[in-house]
Amino acid sequence: MSFQALKLVELARQSLLSDEAVAISALQYLPEELIPPLFMEAFTGRHLKVLREMVAAWPYPCLPVGALMETPHLETLKAVLDGVDKLLTHKVHPRSRKLQVLDLRTVQHSFWNTRAGREDAGSSAQAVSDKQIVKDLPRYALRRRFKVLADLSLRFSANEYQTYLLQWAEQRKHFLQLCCSKMQIVAFPVDSIRNVLKIFQPQYIEELELYSGWNLPTLAWFSPYMGQMRNLHKLFLASIQKIKVENISTDLEKCVTRFISQFSKFNSLQHLYMNGIYFLSHRMKQLFRCLKSPLETLSMTDCVLSQCDLNSLCQYQSLCQLKHLNVSSVELFDLHLTDLRVFLESVIETLQTLELEHCGMRDSQLSALLPALSQCSQLTKVNFYDNDISMPMLKDLFHHTANLSQLTLELYPAPLECFDDMGVVLPERFSLVCSQLMDALRAVRQPKKVSFATYFCHECCSRSIYDLETSLCPCWQ
Ligand SMILES: [Zn+2]
Repeated sequence: MSFQALKLVELARQSLLSDEAVAISALQYLPEELIPPLFMEAFTGRHLKVLREMVAAWPYPCLPVGALMETPHLETLKAVLDGVDKLLTHKVHPRSRKLQVLDLRTVQHSFWNTRAGREDAGSSAQAVSDKQIVKDLPRYALRRRFKVLADLSLRFSANEYQTYLLQWAEQRKHFLQLCCSKMQIVAFPVDSIRNVLKIFQPQYIEELELYSGWNLPTLAWFSPYMGQMRNLHKLFLASIQKIKVENISTDLEKCVTRFISQFSKFNSLQHLYMNGIYFLSHRMKQLFRCLKSPLETLSMTDCVLSQCDLNSLCQYQSLCQLKHLNVSSVELFDLHLTDLRVFLESVIETLQTLELEHCGMRDSQLSALLPALSQCSQLTKVNFYDNDISMPMLKDLFHHTANLSQLTLELYPAPLECFDDMGVVLPERFSLVCSQLMDALRAVRQPKKVSFATYFCHECCSRSIYDLETSLCPCWQ
């Protein structure tokens, strides 16, 4: 925006917002480019009447108002939704009826930078911004009916902002399309979820985070709703009843089967995160078999994996383009890792991050992975923290990473030689051993960020870390 234009905006802002009635009557005569900066002014100054009229007269296809709502404010939301009501009931000057999408998602939006004078975007601002608006929206948002986009974080119970939005949306669901792209459910009442999913239809949800605290029957009840989220890209599951596979009765078995079968309904699932999900032990094969699209991320942390689960990793096409594998806090010490090696060999072209933190691995197990690891040339991050590995084994590991030139972060366990018989770290020995290991690594290639760490201290819950310098846990200071 030029200096003259900025000055004009400032003059218009002062005169218009000092008299809301004048501002409202002048709206239809304002040049289009003055509207976004004035909207921001009305928004931050909470000039709610002006705001309502500006929404109704918005001259662009999308109003990304969520990007301005750092903290949700109920009265501002009401004014914005009143503006939409006014627009949709045709009490608006026809010239102004261009708005198609109200975007309430609190994501950064380039619109305000280019249109509202936050930066000097030059003469091509309008063209760039139109393309950008389209790019920043989900594809379904550009079709047919008026759309309201919102992300919902449902934690324990709906807050007053969400309650208002949900009621408003429910009353208008026959002539608006309500789309929630990201839904987070944290211990939210089951009946309320059913009502929310009647308003915000599941097929628009692209990301679901579920920290429910539910038992298996409740998860089974919810499962068909999850299956309706057929455009889900990312699924995060945690805090589901930690039930061991040997304690699952025939009835609960049906619940598990019902849950797993939903995975065959996802058309484009790319990222699957599961934390503390015990009931899938021995059933990963069933789950992988259901996947229809290639996964980029598979994170199974604090889970229980069996040998046949590991074996099933390399049997399915849906996993052979994996970029991120995280099996941290999964006990691997009594498993043969040959199956994991075979799997790693199948993803050497794509794997970018590998996390095997706190897996109870010993030298022989890590050794089994090395032939595959040495070929994973796309790796940018490896994490082997909290495994019982010796110094010679770590040196051997470094030799196998000679060709991994993309590595930017490497996390290794402090080797066994750094501890006394009781498992207490010996500070001087820790520094000496780790500096020798750094030298050994540098002899192989030029590393970027490297850390060696002990387990978390039982007293202070911190680690002692060596990353060129030694920082011991606070207990030593
Ligand atoms: Zn400590």
